[in-house]
Amino acid sequence: MTDSDPLARNVEAGLRRVNAGRRLGVRRRRELAQHVHDKLQAILIDPGERIAGAETYGTAGVPAGIPVVRFGYLADVLASAADRTRGPFDWLPREFYLAGDPAAVDPRPEDLLLARAIRHAIERHKVDQLLHRSVERLHQTERNFRNLLERSADAMLVIGEDRRVLFANAAAGQLFKRDAVQLIGQPFEHPLEANRSLEFHTRRHDGVEMVLEVVAAPTSWDEQPAWLATLRETTARTLAVSMLLHEASRDALTGLWNRRILLERIEQEIGRAERGGHALSVAILDLDHFKRVNDTWGHGTGDDVLQTMARILERCCRKADIAARWGGEEFALLMPETAREGALIVAERLRTETARTPMKTRKGEGFRMTASLGVAQWRAGEDAAALMARADTQLYRAKESGRNLVCA
Ligand code: GH3
Ligand code: MG
Ligand code: MG
Repeated sequence: MTDSDPLARNVEAGLRRVNAGRRLGVRRRRELAQHVHDKLQAILIDPGERIAGAETYGTAGVPAGIPVVRFGYLADVLASAADRTRGPFDWLPREFYLAGDPAAVDPRPEDLLLARAIRHAIERHKVDQLLHRSVERLHQTERNFRNLLERSADAMLVIGEDRRVLFANAAAGQLFKRDAVQLIGQPFEHPLEANRSLEFHTRRHDGVEMVLEVVAAPTSWDEQPAWLATLRETTARTLAVSMLLHEASRDALTGLWNRRILLERIEQEIGRAERGGHALSVAILDLDHFKRVNDTWGHGTGDDVLQTMARILERCCRKADIAARWGGEEFALLMPETAREGALIVAERLRTETARTPMKTRKGEGFRMTASLGVAQWRAGEDAAALMARADTQLYRAKESGRNLVCA
């Protein structure tokens, strides 16, 4: 507007009448330098000449970020009412303000309307800015989240409800030896449970077997429920644990179960026998004159005999039986769901198999071994140690009675 403009004069007078004119400035548009804009609460625009078309009432040249109220001819504004794309603004019919009364002292209706339009523009502008800022903050949060995922040293996958990968970070790509984008859309069929670490075996696309640990947390992705899964390779650890478990439960020389595991399994089987009311038997086997083997051909040959004996045991027993190394040259066999008669048959088979299996010294000489066996069937109330002690007594009897015998 220009200050000689009747519209400007009327607006100024009107704003004074409603006590809102204190900071009113009437400027030509080109005088509105940026630093002036920064201090403005709102701008009133009069496009001046009536030019048909929406652009007449546009806010061209007015920087974004300042609420605008503009004047317009009623007919033109109505014609361009749909054009709300240029930012927050309100409009007032120019005709009302051209015909003013500079002498009026009390607020006129159009003054109140003017003041309300300015307040309204300022308020709406504030709301728009808040909205804009919160949307921006939301975008920033999402960018931060994706950035964190992307840069995490842990392999991370976002898995949709259909169990397909929606997102994979670079570390996940490295884990599966693929580009992260190649993982997107791939199925993830392993179990996921909220905040519980689960281990699963999988095969990489190049065929390498891996053991992975996955910790999953429910999340949402693109506004859909999803899982955020953190993956860690535990192949080496799993291998180490299984080796330790193996070492702790197996006899190093023969690979049979060790004494500790045998006793544990006997206790378990006693429990089962007590509940199920079925029989349970054990046999102890001791090689005859084993000392002589060591003394004559050396410990290496002795060890070979022990290994051969272990294979005989495995060969002669059923899948459900537990064959163990009980001590030096003593072996034990736990036979679940087997009564004395059945156990005697197995023991007898072990005795004859031992006697007829050719043995060899380290130098290649052949020789034969025999074994004595004691068998005992579990009696109600007996624990593992008592049961084994009775089998041992029978073994002693077999030795006393001349060896290469089974006693029960
Ligand atoms: P018997 O017929 O009375 O059983 O006589 P034996 O010589 O077999 O009995 P004894 O218990 O006197 O001897 C067992 C021998 O087994 C003593 C020990 O040197 C040997 N031995 C124990 N453990 C091992 C082992 O791991 N390797 C070898 N080579 N010998 C072992
Ligand atoms: Mg012995
Ligand atoms: Mg012996």
